[in-house]
Amino acid sequence: MQTSITDALLATPEGREADAILRACVHCGFCTATCPTYQLLGNELDGPRGRIYQIKLVMEGQPATRTTQLHLDRCLTCRACETTCPSGVKYARLVDIGRALLEHRVKRPLRERLLRQALVWLVPHARRLRVLFALGRLARPLLPARLGAKLPAPRPAGSWPRRAGHRRMLALAGCVQSVATPRTNAAAARTLATLGIDLIEARGAGCCGAATYHLNAQEEGRAAARRNIDAWWPEIEAGAEAILVTASGCGAFVKEYGEILAHDQAYAHKAARVSALARDPAEVLAKEDMGLLGRPGGGRKVAFHSPCTLQHGQQLKQVVEPILTRLGFALTPVPDGHLCCGSAGTYSITQPDLSLQLRDNKLTALQAGDPDIIATANIGCQLHLEAGAGRPVLHWLELLDTGSTPTRPD
Ligand code: SF4
Ligand code: SF4
Repeated sequence: MQTSITDALLATPEGREADAILRACVHCGFCTATCPTYQLLGNELDGPRGRIYQIKLVMEGQPATRTTQLHLDRCLTCRACETTCPSGVKYARLVDIGRALLEHRVKRPLRERLLRQALVWLVPHARRLRVLFALGRLARPLLPARLGAKLPAPRPAGSWPRRAGHRRMLALAGCVQSVATPRTNAAAARTLATLGIDLIEARGAGCCGAATYHLNAQEEGRAAARRNIDAWWPEIEAGAEAILVTASGCGAFVKEYGEILAHDQAYAHKAARVSALARDPAEVLAKEDMGLLGRPGGGRKVAFHSPCTLQHGQQLKQVVEPILTRLGFALTPVPDGHLCCGSAGTYSITQPDLSLQLRDNKLTALQAGDPDIIATANIGCQLHLEAGAGRPVLHWLELLDTGSTPTRPD
C-alpha cells in the first residue's frame, strides 16, 4: 500500500523499517481469518489488517489515541497472521515499532503503568520469582482461586549429568522456566547426554529479554540480550555447537538478537552469530540417532500444543510431533492447532479475559482426543494450560526423560 510517513519518522531506522513493511502489505485481509482476537471480537480493528492500518495512520501524523493503543495491546503477537500472509509482511516487527511509538505518545492509566512496571521488575529476575512463588504457595489458601491456580507446583529438576567432554551445546537457563519448571532443562541435559552431547548453562546468562521487550521496555530487553551474549561468547569461541533454547518463546527471541541489535556496533556481529546458533531442541534431536533414546512413549496418548512462538515465530511446524511418534507416543488430534492458547508472554496478566477465553477454547481442542498427557514446548503455554487442564501438562522433553513423567490422576 502507499504510505506518507512523516519526515521525522523517516529520519529514523525504525521509521524506514516500518515504512518498508507497510508498503509490502496489499491490504488483502487474508490474515484476518486466522487472527484469534478478530475471531473473538469480530472487529476489524482487532485484526492484523486493522492494526496495520492504525499504525500507518499514526506514522502519517494522525493523533495517537488510547483507543489505538488498546487495539494494539489486545494483539497477542502470536504471528499467526505472518504465517497466513501471502506478501511476507513482517507484522510482529511492525507492531513492536507501533507500540513503542504509542507508548511515547499516549499516557496509560496509573493502574496499567504500575502493573507493567511491576512485570518488568519481576518477570526477568529468577530470584524475585522464586521468592514470589514460595510466598504464594504459603498463602495459597488465602488467594482467589484464579490466582492460586496460576502458581506452579514444585518440580524437582533431578540430577544434571556429568560432562563427558566430546560434544558441547549451550542451554539458556531463562527466568520463569528456571524457577517454575527446572526439570525441563535438566531433562534436556539427560536426553542429550544419552546422545553424547554435554549441555552447559553458562554462568551469567539469564532471561532472554523477550518479556520486557514486548512490554515496551525495549532497552531492558536489549540489555538482557547483550548480557547473554557476553556470558555465552567464551563457550562459543571454544566450539559450542549450538545454543539450545527449550522454551520456544525465548528461542524465537534469541533468534532475533541479530535483528534487535543490528544497529549496535559493538554487538551486531556477535548477536548475529548467537542467533545463527540458536536451536529449538526438536531441531537438534531430529538430526541425531534417536534410536539411542529407546521407546519411552509406550503407547501413551499425548495431545501436543504447538506454541505460536514455535510454529509461527520460528516457523517450525510438525517438528516435535514426528519425534514423539517415533518414540512411541500416540498423538491425539488437535483441531485449530494454529490458534494461540492465550498465554502470550504477559498477556494472561495484562488481558486476562481474552486470555481465558482463548485458553478454554484451546483446552477443549486439546482434550478432544482424551489424551493422558498434554505436552507443549513453551513455559508460558505450559503454566497457562496447566491451570485449567485437570491432567498433566508437560514440556515434551520431560516425556523423553524416562522416570520423570507423571501419570494422569484418576
Ligand atoms: S498483512 Fe498480508 S495478509 Fe494481511 S492484509 Fe496485509 S498483505 Fe494481506
Ligand atoms: S499477531 Fe496474532 S493476535 Fe496479533 S494481529 Fe497477528 S494474528 Fe492477530
